Amino acid sequence: MDVIDFHIHYVKKELLNPTWLNYLESINPEFFSKMDEFSEHPELVVAHLKTEGVRYAVVLPECAPATSGYVPTEEVIDYCRGHETLIPFASINPNVHEDIAQRLEEYVKIGGVKGLKLHPSYQFFYPNEARLYPLYQKAQELRIPIVFHIGTSIFKGTRLKYCDPIYLDDVAVDFPDLKMIMAHSGRGFWYEDCFSLSRLHRNLYMDITGLPPQNLLRYFPELEKNSEKVVFGSDWPTMPTSIRANIEAIKDLPLSEKAIEAILYRNAQRILFDI
Ligand SMILES: [Zn+2]
Repeated sequence: MDVIDFHIHYVKKELLNPTWLNYLESINPEFFSKMDEFSEHPELVVAHLKTEGVRYAVVLPECAPATSGYVPTEEVIDYCRGHETLIPFASINPNVHEDIAQRLEEYVKIGGVKGLKLHPSYQFFYPNEARLYPLYQKAQELRIPIVFHIGTSIFKGTRLKYCDPIYLDDVAVDFPDLKMIMAHSGRGFWYEDCFSLSRLHRNLYMDITGLPPQNLLRYFPELEKNSEKVVFGSDWPTMPTSIRANIEAIKDLPLSEKAIEAILYRNAQRILFDI
């Protein structure tokens, strides 16, 4: 079965703040010792993903200088270029960038990015603020998805109030054709809210990045019913186990074959390739 990983990070020592670097070193020391090589050579990531059983992976930049770090979209675009496996996304920060809608258009039309990541709790904005609406309008027009970080984080400086999923309700109503994904599915406080919101809005999805797969049915007892709205992500390299181990754990859940295939591949394929 093909797998799409909707959530991996391009990392480089000099671009991450200490809070992320220290955590990465503690959680994945094996990767950390080879980090410089991976940052220089995308073909190593491609080969790694292949051994883990991943066909495509969304590669995320991160413009959050006040918290986790500043990994520019431009570097991610360069890194992914020429590698079909790696799907670059953009990171835009409404407190750093001006002309956010125009910037997105350039990233998509010139840089070839396939989606946008926003980080309310690291970038400090409520998703339903009016100043974000031109950006949403543009994403909807360009038919690209937006991933929102929705959930707790141990990174220093995080302000959780901004990623309460209820603020996405407004956006889902106002932009009915904009596909949005709640990364981490509300980890910590908001599992039920994310589940209900994604059931309610046809354009709102959940990703299970960072959640131990064996606990998924405890967080979401009715996962099977919502399996068309859930996508798989690993958070690699910021993860304690292997991507393959997580994939296998999902395959072992008491879900139908159809649901597992939807979560591991089909839903992401529909979102990314607009089919
Ligand atoms: Zn992540």
